Amino acid sequence: MGLTKDQVRAWLANVPHPEGGDIVSKGSVVNIAACDQNASVRMTLVQGPDEPDPSEETMKTLGARVIQTISSGAMASGMGKVVLSVEFVDHHGNVAMRLGANNSASDTVQPEPKGATPPAAQESASGIDGVKHIIAVGAGKGGVGKSTISVNLAVGLARNGHSVGLLDGDIYGPSLPTMLGLDAMEQTALEGSLQPFYVHGIKAVTIGKLVDSDKPLIWRGPMAHGAFTQLTERTRWGELDYLIIDLPPGTGDVPLTMAQSLKLTGAVVVCTPQKVAQDDAVRAAKMFEQLGVEVLGAIENMSYFIGDDGKEYDIFGRGGAEKMAQRLGLPFLGAVPINMALRHNSDSGEPLNNFDPVAAGGDALPLALERMVQNLEGQLNLASLKQGTTRPSLTIR
Ligand code: ADP
Repeated sequence: MGLTKDQVRAWLANVPHPEGGDIVSKGSVVNIAACDQNASVRMTLVQGPDEPDPSEETMKTLGARVIQTISSGAMASGMGKVVLSVEFVDHHGNVAMRLGANNSASDTVQPEPKGATPPAAQESASGIDGVKHIIAVGAGKGGVGKSTISVNLAVGLARNGHSVGLLDGDIYGPSLPTMLGLDAMEQTALEGSLQPFYVHGIKAVTIGKLVDSDKPLIWRGPMAHGAFTQLTERTRWGELDYLIIDLPPGTGDVPLTMAQSLKLTGAVVVCTPQKVAQDDAVRAAKMFEQLGVEVLGAIENMSYFIGDDGKEYDIFGRGGAEKMAQRLGLPFLGAVPINMALRHNSDSGEPLNNFDPVAAGGDALPLALERMVQNLEGQLNLASLKQGTTRPSLTIR
């Protein structure tokens, strides 16, 4: 059993507020996200613009108490060690302090100097100016083809006439430089903002172009979160219909905080057909649900293989992810075959070739990808309608 939002909230109701009462009933707990052994808590001690910011010492002490309370609760419930992060925001939603994710106050991220943050930064975890829809692509485990699917969804949506951005948030193993053929290109910045690469009809940004690709990327939760925030907020995306975010795999602290730091239209979960991959994908889908993010659908990658004899081989047990989607009540967006041309086109940074029957080794791959993109478009339309109807300005009778 893992952490749940309600359980964490109940434990936090025992933490005293510096001014009396407890932090939950005083409204200091703004948001809780929990999944498996991970939880993050967003807090505020400032209720209005006229109230002074709390001292660093107050936030540090309270944050440490919050972490300690959840850790002890989890320990007492037999869950073992949990990974937690706590952040304090001011009344604008700007992060004043972040603690975690190694359960120690020594991981504290110092507040950014006042006035140094561009105004758009942290204008609450809402959206990105000019970007209509943000879609996260997640997977329960690495190597299932999450980045491959992210690239092909982005390129496929762009081929259908949408303006699309792609953000490589997979900070542990950024693969976009290779998959998009960015190796020979230089990252440029303009007035402190990153200029996305304009390739294959999409705009793309990847941490892989900002760090030394030969050095291992060792990120702790707060650092990873900071890097991601800068990539999303300090990039000149311009006007976009869709921004696709390739999240790190799994349901740990890093994908969890990334998924909750932006207002997402929805998420896509990538899975291979095997039972073990499905179990992890179920956890990824639950993570999004617990964050209140609609799962737009599941995609089965490496679904089957077409041999030179033209026969289809169900190497991993085709249909497993579709059945999983049915079980969870999720839309199924499509099955992508194992395809040597797809692997080759990814390694050589030519994703558009996947949509060309000649360069894709037949029409099975282009058709599968087009179907997947169309299904996603359908789900996005539905999601926009649903989210649109909840806006107070729109009344449908
Ligand atoms: P993840 O992002 O989940 O770690 P990647 O997208 O990086 O996985 O894929 C891992 C490797 O598998 C890459 O070399 C990619 O080209 C290859 N791959 C992914 N999907 C397919 C597929 N359907 N057919 C052939 N190769 C694939």
